[in-house]
Amino acid sequence: MSEEKKTLNFLEEIIEEDIRSGKHGGRVQTRFPPEPNGYLHIGHAKSICLNFGIAAKYGGKTNLRFDDTNPVTEDTEYVDSIKEDVRWLGFEWENELYASDYFDQLYAFAVALIQKGLAYVDDSTPEQIAAGKGTPTEPGIPTPYRSRTIEENLDLFTRMKNGEFADGAKVLRAKIDLASPNMHFRDPIIYRIKHAHHHRTGDKWCVYPMYDFAHGQSDSIENITHSICTLEFIPHRPLYDWFIEQLEIFPSRQFEFARLNLTYTVMSKRKLLQLVNEKHVSGWNDPRMPTISGFRRRGYTPSSIRTFCDKIGIQKRENVIDMSLLEFCIREELNKTALRRMAVLDPIKMVITNYPEGQVEELEGENNPEAENGGGSRTIPFTRELWIEREDFMEHPPKKFFRLGPGLMARLKHAYIVKCEDFKKDEAGNITEIHCTYIPESKSGADTSGINVKGTIHWVSVQHAAKAEVRLYDRLFKVENPASEEGDFKEYINPDSLQVVTDAYIEPALLDADNGQAYQFIRKGYFCLDTDSTPEKLVFNRTVTLKDAWAKEVKKAQ
Ligand code: ATP
Ligand code: MG
Repeated sequence: MSEEKKTLNFLEEIIEEDIRSGKHGGRVQTRFPPEPNGYLHIGHAKSICLNFGIAAKYGGKTNLRFDDTNPVTEDTEYVDSIKEDVRWLGFEWENELYASDYFDQLYAFAVALIQKGLAYVDDSTPEQIAAGKGTPTEPGIPTPYRSRTIEENLDLFTRMKNGEFADGAKVLRAKIDLASPNMHFRDPIIYRIKHAHHHRTGDKWCVYPMYDFAHGQSDSIENITHSICTLEFIPHRPLYDWFIEQLEIFPSRQFEFARLNLTYTVMSKRKLLQLVNEKHVSGWNDPRMPTISGFRRRGYTPSSIRTFCDKIGIQKRENVIDMSLLEFCIREELNKTALRRMAVLDPIKMVITNYPEGQVEELEGENNPEAENGGGSRTIPFTRELWIEREDFMEHPPKKFFRLGPGLMARLKHAYIVKCEDFKKDEAGNITEIHCTYIPESKSGADTSGINVKGTIHWVSVQHAAKAEVRLYDRLFKVENPASEEGDFKEYINPDSLQVVTDAYIEPALLDADNGQAYQFIRKGYFCLDTDSTPEKLVFNRTVTLKDAWAKEVKKAQ
């Protein structure tokens, strides 16, 4: 059946109209412009999918442009991680570019504005400049430097560049309109002095352009046709257009969409950096982080993130997306691809008293019932002593408990029906061992016992089990929107967001677990190997639970 025809989003409508009217010869060129001051997060993924996706859809190309005009916060570590993450998401850029490569050109643009009488050097302090801007209801007041001559401004700007002045001693401002209702038009600062080492240009520059004087011009230099950014840049758009018009350069245009906000997390690099620096997480790629590298380590796939971005679509209004939707996307995918395996996370020993000592039966277990022919199978050794999950036995089970308790029967996955006959307790009252008998005629796939049981439990042969560490993750924050709560957002960190199980038992087929392969630990969730794993000590991350545990919590609370 053909897929339902999707309606166009508002950006696609704009682009199709531009193509119809022959704007730029029907060419579509976008860019993704991260500032290399942190790792990319899932919000950036939305922007990446949009910028790369929309260009590809209309036969265009996308540049990866590092917006590295702020020398202080930027680093090559971030540049490398950003490239890795964009590629991992499945996109390839046409050119890898750096706003810092345009510093000479941007400087020349500033000089051109001065020559047109449209920019001046201002010696005022930041406070004086702020005060002189007025308020939205009152016009600003010019500083005494606004009337400097073109010659004087050219001379001072050159000397700013040559390093004659200290940081903050002077700025270059565009001379636009101090009474404009748009505050961004009230003589915005376009260059500032900063004696700082830049990760690419070194010590060549001590003046750096401001965002508004770099972004639009960089777009224009690259002949970007559709410069897509988030809603907070709407008030900047007139300025974006004004510079392009005054400089008479390629007419790039800016379009805005709503940024992605996700529940139970924070999504600003500044906040994520705090989590890293203050060691609330193990690093930018901690599997609880909403970063692309965090999701990758946690076992998310590029396609699950792309599907998520596709599902949420593009809006013109701010909204908040439920984390459950992202989890739904990865769960759906892993259900189709994950190899089924058995692992016992909280073990208790079961002895099958009527099973011969020393006997090992090689049972068949299909790899994936969702795949064709069950995705092949692996063998699982079955013996007299097994590990089962502690929670699958209850000394005093309630009525509808379909697992094990005195006298109760359950099926061991891929194996036999067992009946619980007895159990052992230590002095402290902890159950230490349970004793069962098995029904030899009840073997899975060849069951002639005629016995019906409701519950199936997983298990691992004691003799064959390997130990592994298993890391279980929950949401990093206890509240839906930590950034909007009172006080510091870090007060809302979920103290139980990481649970480490050091002594889990895994079936032998998991001993050659692969990086990049997903596993479903039957009844326990989807897992992947963590990068901390070594051949001596396997470490697994739970990517996501089998069902939406939070939805249940909500229902319970209602
Ligand atoms: P942050 O506030 O997280 O630091 P940023 O906007 O400063 O983000 P940039 O590196 O400047 O980060 O962003 C690169 C691109 O990604 C920009 O075009 C920006 O609009 C977009 N972007 C950033 N955050 C989001 C988000 N949450 N949803 C959609 N797009 C985003
Ligand atoms: Mg930014």
